[in-house]
Amino acid sequence: MFRLGQRVAIAVSFLFLVSLASSRGAGNDAPPVIALKAARLFDGKSKALITNGVIIVQGDKIVDSGSNLPVLAGAQVIDLGDATLSPGFMDAHTHLTLDYSGNYNQRRLDELDLNVSEQAIKAVTFARATVEAGFTTVRDLGSRFVASREFVDIALRNSINKGVIVGPRMLVATKGIGATGGHFDPTSGFRDFLFGREPDYTDGIANGPDDVRKAVRFEVKNGADIIKAAVSGGVLSLADEVDTPQFTPAEMAALVDESHRLRKKVAVHCHGDQAGREAVEAGVDSIEHGSFLKPETLTLMKKKGTFLTPTLMATEWIMSKIANYPPALQEKARAAAAARSEMFRNAVKMGVKISFGTDAAVFPHGQNAKEFALMTELGMAPIDALKSATSNDAELLGVGQKIGTLERGKLADIIAMQGDPTADIAATEHISLVMKEGKIIRNGPPAMQAAAKSTEATDVAAPVD
Ligand SMILES: [Zn+2]
Repeated sequence: MFRLGQRVAIAVSFLFLVSLASSRGAGNDAPPVIALKAARLFDGKSKALITNGVIIVQGDKIVDSGSNLPVLAGAQVIDLGDATLSPGFMDAHTHLTLDYSGNYNQRRLDELDLNVSEQAIKAVTFARATVEAGFTTVRDLGSRFVASREFVDIALRNSINKGVIVGPRMLVATKGIGATGGHFDPTSGFRDFLFGREPDYTDGIANGPDDVRKAVRFEVKNGADIIKAAVSGGVLSLADEVDTPQFTPAEMAALVDESHRLRKKVAVHCHGDQAGREAVEAGVDSIEHGSFLKPETLTLMKKKGTFLTPTLMATEWIMSKIANYPPALQEKARAAAAARSEMFRNAVKMGVKISFGTDAAVFPHGQNAKEFALMTELGMAPIDALKSATSNDAELLGVGQKIGTLERGKLADIIAMQGDPTADIAATEHISLVMKEGKIIRNGPPAMQAAAKSTEATDVAAPVD
């Protein structure tokens, strides 16, 4: 026993020496320091840009950020010239595994024809186009393939996190939860029983509070970071009206209670005012779209601190390609587009918290930054639009401790855009550098420009009032 004890003591002191040596070794090859310089800097939260911006990065973190900071000898200096440094943009509403931007009927056919693995491979290019456009974090609000049980968004998120592929940091919702025949029912519009069974909680379809809880638990079990539900009708669904409520107050209460118990935030797809009011009362964290929200509902959101994710790009894209959609959807799109501009103006005036989110997939991935111009054309100050895509989204996503501002100790998610976005918001569409967690993804032209232009037109029509 004595000899064994002696051996253990020797082994422990040997391990101590080894660990000391390796920690000294780590000190010697400390990660190199990079200094990013540009004419201007937006820190993610201040009311104005600062001039002569400098950000010092070491490893995956920001060491310092400010105006005219001194740069230590030996640091790699990247001078971006007449550009504006900013925290990496976030998009609180994407669907990186899907693409609805082309011809609606072709897309519907593709859903039935394409192997889910092939769709997943396409998603790899969508993720790359998104991060190369300056969006280093997304909240991905729904990924579903009719009659498939695959979780492609989980696979995409994990592959990005493991460094297997290049893309934005993703918080994913898996299938989203909705009612039978509602906006999220994947079999709506198809002949009854075409897929052999009525969708259930494993497809995100739930009816009644207990079933809603079961669906939340099933999604969290399979890796959901957040919970998404459709509480009103939608534009791109065939069997519902765009503004009707699709969950009862009891179902919404169960949705929020179960999600929050499991420490997941709740985002709800909602165009209609009644559903919106009931969802805000139930305590959801964000309302997505919100096209028909009345001032009283916006007042309630302001009071409760509920975020609005306006997704102006979605209606903008559909209206610019309206002939691509079946007549029933054209009518719904026109009604939503006609209402949403006034709703957005009201929300800005009233000071409702606005999160930047686009509904990417309705338009080609990588064009997310066009949302900025739509927001400012409808009355939002450029600096507030920039905040919505950085510190506001970080707050909504619950990641504000790590990202969203340029501050010492935060992860080095940094972008540079050409020019001054407060003078011309279109600067947000001209990204010259993307860094994620200290690694440069792009310094110069994007590799994925072609994928971002998967459909022919890239110009967005003027806002529809
Ligand atoms: Zn969406």
